[in-house]
Amino acid sequence: MGAGGPDDEDNRWPPWLKPLLRERFFVQCKLHADSHKSECNMYCLDCMNGALCSLCLAYHKDHRAIQIRRSSYHDVIRVSEIQKVLDISGVQTYVINSARVVFLNERPQPRPGKGVTNTCEVCERSLLDSFRFCSLGCKIAGTSKRKKQQMASDSEDSYSSSSSHARYMKNKINNENKVQSFSPSTPPPTPASYRTAKRRKGIPHRAPMGGLIIEY
Ligand SMILES: [Zn+2]
Ligand SMILES: [Zn+2]
Ligand SMILES: [Zn+2]
Repeated sequence: MGAGGPDDEDNRWPPWLKPLLRERFFVQCKLHADSHKSECNMYCLDCMNGALCSLCLAYHKDHRAIQIRRSSYHDVIRVSEIQKVLDISGVQTYVINSARVVFLNERPQPRPGKGVTNTCEVCERSLLDSFRFCSLGCKIAGTSKRKKQQMASDSEDSYSSSSSHARYMKNKINNENKVQSFSPSTPPPTPASYRTAKRRKGIPHRAPMGGLIIEY
């Protein structure tokens, strides 16, 4: 696939990524509410059917399931798990509980740190140098926005030119059809309608229907 194709925006991210980022985890499982293990911290990349508890997961045996973890009330995924299925380059990673993780979504930062030189391109959270985004959500937002603007101007051009051409072709075809079908499909004007047309237009000799009337 070349760059700039119309499907790039859709194919840019795996289908499960946006649903995953919208999902709420660490809620009680509706199906297994009576189990003490029913906190939903798993997500099936194949089914994309919401947060799963460990009992739900039994129905996704050969599927690619990913575990969501928590850090200070924010959802994170271990780098070792997510990088197998997603390109996380540019997203800052953090070491939490001796595991390297990425955040799913941006976290509001009340005020920027002092002496910050590098911030998230989307939410302006302070980052270490060499990173562009604080989270997977910001990476989607940051890379899609630029893409969309570019695509909007591209497609506007091609849309207007192709649509005016299409309009032209359509008119041309319509006109040709009209010309071809005009005399056979038009009933011969009755004397009454001929007279009104003549009176209204007031140019008897150059009436457009004249030729037809002679024919019939
Ligand atoms: Zn469950
Ligand atoms: Zn599944
Ligand atoms: Zn951010």
